[in-house]
Amino acid sequence: MSINKILVIGAGIAGPTVCYWLKRFGFSPVLIEKSTDIRKGGQALDIRGVVINLVKKMGLYEQICGMRTRVTLGRYVDTAGNTLHEERGERVGFRQDGEVEIIRGDLIEILMDAIQGIPCLFNQLISRIEQNDDGVNVHFKDGRNEYYDLVIGADGIHSATRRMVFDKDEYKFVNLGSYLSIFSIPNYLKLKHTEMLCEANQKMATITSDHNPKMATAAFMFRSQYILNNIRDENEQKQFLRDTFQNFRWEAPKMLELMSNSDDFYFDSIAQIKMKSWTKGRVALLGDAGYCASPLSGQGNNLALVGAYILAGELKKAGGDYAQAFNRYNELLHPFVEANQKFGIWVSESFLVENEVSKEIAEERSDNILKEMKIVSNAISLPEY
Ligand SMILES: Cc1cc2nc3c(=O)[nH]c(=O)nc-3n(C[C@H](O)[C@H](O)[C@H](O)COP(=O)(O)OP(=O)(O)OC[C@H]3O[C@@H](n4cnc5c(N)ncnc54)[C@H](O)[C@@H]3O)c2cc1C
Repeated sequence: MSINKILVIGAGIAGPTVCYWLKRFGFSPVLIEKSTDIRKGGQALDIRGVVINLVKKMGLYEQICGMRTRVTLGRYVDTAGNTLHEERGERVGFRQDGEVEIIRGDLIEILMDAIQGIPCLFNQLISRIEQNDDGVNVHFKDGRNEYYDLVIGADGIHSATRRMVFDKDEYKFVNLGSYLSIFSIPNYLKLKHTEMLCEANQKMATITSDHNPKMATAAFMFRSQYILNNIRDENEQKQFLRDTFQNFRWEAPKMLELMSNSDDFYFDSIAQIKMKSWTKGRVALLGDAGYCASPLSGQGNNLALVGAYILAGELKKAGGDYAQAFNRYNELLHPFVEANQKFGIWVSESFLVENEVSKEIAEERSDNILKEMKIVSNAISLPEY
């Protein structure tokens, strides 16, 4: 059985990484992305646990360290702006032992550089995927159709590949009961490599400024059982955010006023994807598309990087027997995903407390997160391929 032509959908973290390993292992991947370009900026992702060695194997660790974030002060304040507690150094981002944080867009840029030579096509949308014993017929929205030996869906938590290939009872989209919004605003507080956090009444607002002294990142997180009519409608999202934080005080009113001029508004429910199998026939899901652990786990990036390595490595090891490789991918990755999803739920329950967060709560929470994070980010031994 020969497997060569592989379509990878989604140029986020998982897509370019699996392309890197597939090429290194002798396959010919093609990467497609629905956006017209790579999205710059975005939220910060962590390189932790077993993934430190993985990015070293890819020769990318030094480059990642060169572009890492440098937030060195985390200041918790009450809703009147009084300082409650401060964290310094790597503890601000719950990091230890060589772990680094990098902005999502910067990591994607590094990964895209590492896969130069692999065809990467933007502005591509698929309308239908059909498969049989011989291959996968991919129909594009512009009328083209192309045949591939395998298709890998790395198209994020709202994966269209998952919807097109898997039945509704083969996956669960589990809302964890909270929402997250992130957008850029001017650094009007003149913060220097600092994050300010205000958490009260099951809501949290943060402002961070790092490399660019002119700009800051505003983030809002809150619990709510309310389900938006159309979760993808930006106006509805912004109104929901304003309504939720209207009595919050601290810097929230100013941050929300500045939201109107922001050009990178992000909003989503905090959710996990649960599936028994991430593969069906000749199609495999990778990263958030198959096993999102929620942004709060801080491990989505690491799951995507580990998943990409194992999927490509098992295809190499099985010598083209994709069914065998897919079985091993499911088998090897499930315990790691489950440990990290469980951790994501635990973190989600320990944030957004009922009253104002105290120094004791913040300190104890940081200690517990650091301890648990170390365990879950190392909860797999990576095979050599
Ligand atoms: C706010 C936030 C904070 C986070 N914080 C952390 C953190 O601290 N640490 C951490 O490790 N992880 C964190 N994560 C998670 C992390 O971003 C993801 O888990 C990780 O990027 C997974 O990558 P992915 O490639 O699977 O998906 P994504 O990064 O979502 O990439 C999917 C790609 O597919 C493209 N796409 C979507 N639909 C289609 C389509 N139909 N056709 C073609 N292309 C398509 C998208 O445009 C995108 O480029 C966070 C996530 C969010 C949203």
